[in-house]
Amino acid sequence: MAEKNTTPVEPAEAVVLSRSEHTISRRNIDPDALKILFRLNRLGFTAYLTGGAVRDMLLGKEPKDFDIATDARPAQVKKYFTNAFIIGRRFRLAHIHFRCGKIIEVATFRRDPGPDALGLLTAGTAPQYAFGTPAQDAWRRDITVNALFYDPVSATLIDHIGGLADLRSRRIRVIGVAGERFREDPVRIWRVIRYAARLGFAIDDDLGREISAQRHLLSGCSPARLYEEFSKDLLGPQTRHVISGLRDHGILRPLLGCIGEAFETDPLLFNKVCSLLDISDHEKSLRHDLGLTEMAALLFWPWAESLLIGAPPDPYTVLKKAFMNAEMAVALPKGLRAQVIDVVALIARMIRALHTGNMRWSLRGRLQFALASRLCFLIEQNRTPEEGESFENLFRQAFPARPLFGTKRHRRRRKRKPPPQ
Ligand code: ATP
Ligand code: MG
Repeated sequence: MAEKNTTPVEPAEAVVLSRSEHTISRRNIDPDALKILFRLNRLGFTAYLTGGAVRDMLLGKEPKDFDIATDARPAQVKKYFTNAFIIGRRFRLAHIHFRCGKIIEVATFRRDPGPDALGLLTAGTAPQYAFGTPAQDAWRRDITVNALFYDPVSATLIDHIGGLADLRSRRIRVIGVAGERFREDPVRIWRVIRYAARLGFAIDDDLGREISAQRHLLSGCSPARLYEEFSKDLLGPQTRHVISGLRDHGILRPLLGCIGEAFETDPLLFNKVCSLLDISDHEKSLRHDLGLTEMAALLFWPWAESLLIGAPPDPYTVLKKAFMNAEMAVALPKGLRAQVIDVVALIARMIRALHTGNMRWSLRGRLQFALASRLCFLIEQNRTPEEGESFENLFRQAFPARPLFGTKRHRRRRKRKPPPQ
């Protein structure tokens, strides 16, 4: 029996909507992406806009990036575009580079390796695909609303899977048989939850059950690939909703080990996480880019704070050990982990200073001091600091009589012993 909440396995005829039947306007498409699409077309290739760009434009949102799918092979894309670079070890695709670091991804239509190839997959690595037709390419994608094509030449919208109906009914459906697709690539579980959370779409009960049955597979995924997904959620929109969605589906424990477990079992701790992420999400929505260190420090702060309650003499070692023993499946790069530890240890020191009036101002020399000072303000005041506001302002308010940055202590010079005669 076919699993529920999956799209039919046999492709039906594509639905094609003309310009007057959909809301996508070329004016909303990045001009460089349009140039690539038209140029490929003039060269005799088929080239469509796809993925999140089509989905977001249909929802009236501004797309984050513009992905292109074409029947031109990566080597052909490289030949015709001097600014193209081929990337990818498992599946090669072209990145076309533009000014200000903009990159447009051009991928060749692929097809699903099928369940027969499942046994050949290394757990958690993305499955390997062969080239395919546009319809096959739509079928190998993750969820129906991510598998729409827009043809800029005819201004038509092409739907092979039923993604348009799902956009209208605001629900997330996995393409193909959900269980098989999750076993093939467990990262799709994360993606289902991410887009449901970001778009405010529903996950049906059957799909929810499939997620519960397969979520353990996520801990077997490549830690570096999981980190890639993690950073997308920290830097992308609606981090709070995504993290809450992951928690609701019991995914934080497999991804973040003991830290995820603490978030799943301690509602007070998780409420703190949510309020901090709400503030940072609001800031992101105002187009202020927040960095990975900042976002990761906010996410981990409530957990780290609980470890530093007794003001241990060496908070750095306490935090380092706690991260190492957390058994996270997501591999935080060493540099990022060290920065996060530095920031949260400084925040803890600052918050204590706001109560005791004792601050070690020599810490101002630390690289992460300015960021910690900003986040300390945010945590204490439950809002983003305005220009010029920081921990120092809070300290001055709390202890107006204390000199900021301390006074220079003059050490008495020890008299040098005369050298032995
Ligand atoms: P956004 O970029 O706004 O986060 P997106 O849908 O474009 O959303 P990307 O990560 O840029 O997400 O991926 C582009 C497209 O590639 C997706 O829309 C989806 O069709 C396909 N895709 C990405 N990851 C997978 C996967 N693990 N399995 C199948 N298809 C995938
Ligand atoms: Mg994208």
